[in-house]
Amino acid sequence: MNAAPRLPAHPDDSNPAIDESRDVPRAADRAAARVRETASAVLRSEGGGVLLPMLDAARVAVREVARAETNSPQAAARACRAGCSWCCYLAVSITPAEALMIADGLLAQRSASDLPRVQERMLATAARVAHLTIEQRARAQVPCALLGEDGACTIHAFRPLGCRGWTSFDAIACETAQKEKKPGHDGPQDALLYAVAGAAGDGLSAALREAGAPAGDYEFHAAVSAALEFMTAEMGGDGGLRGGGRLGGGGEQSAPGRAAGPAGGCTLSAAFAACPRVTSERLRSG
Ligand code: SF4
Repeated sequence: MNAAPRLPAHPDDSNPAIDESRDVPRAADRAAARVRETASAVLRSEGGGVLLPMLDAARVAVREVARAETNSPQAAARACRAGCSWCCYLAVSITPAEALMIADGLLAQRSASDLPRVQERMLATAARVAHLTIEQRARAQVPCALLGEDGACTIHAFRPLGCRGWTSFDAIACETAQKEKKPGHDGPQDALLYAVAGAAGDGLSAALREAGAPAGDYEFHAAVSAALEFMTAEMGGDGGLRGGGRLGGGGEQSAPGRAAGPAGGCTLSAAFAACPRVTSERLRSG
């Protein structure tokens, strides 16, 4: 499946000339508020079920970040190019909504014969990195399981918010940080894009929590593996979602986090409950 998005118009769609780029904190605050408001409306509008609204809520956040990616005055200074992957060895946190969006993208992108291999790689990488701190992950130098052999992201169009927001003006600084096993370069990057990506994630998380949907930040490989497993099991033989695309089953209304899974016992919340969170040694010792 690849559920078609049905998103409300962006509040600023009618005013593309709006320029928030000179005040990054204000731009971030407004981005968080817009994502929270629009994602909340999307999550409320479905009435029952949770999967399709969560996919659309994630897309609301992605749309906000894509807008900053295009409009940022520092766009031309970004050194990030397809095939440059020094940052794809770092820890990535994602919300359950992003994990579902990425699983949905993989289900549409990969063949039925390739999907088990993808899931195998995701699970194997999760086993290696999901319990590492940010610093330990950088030292381990394990590449993202969805990094292509050509060094390009194989899910670029539906990559996580964190990957969208992390940029650099200097690829050499990224290469040096990776080789020195540091958790990211400390050189300049696109400040607006970084701030908006973080704010969009915050707005999305707030909307998910308010809706009673699974929220929080989970390790990328573990969360996408959980989402893939849940969505694969939830899909019917025709590639569509069971129950007309709703997860409540039998047309019943269900609280988002308690959407019944295909086995009747596995809930969407339970699918993510065992996923580790990304932590930092710096925060732990601070
Ligand atoms: S999802 Fe894509 S951009 Fe993000 S770490 Fe993996 S390969 Fe890199």
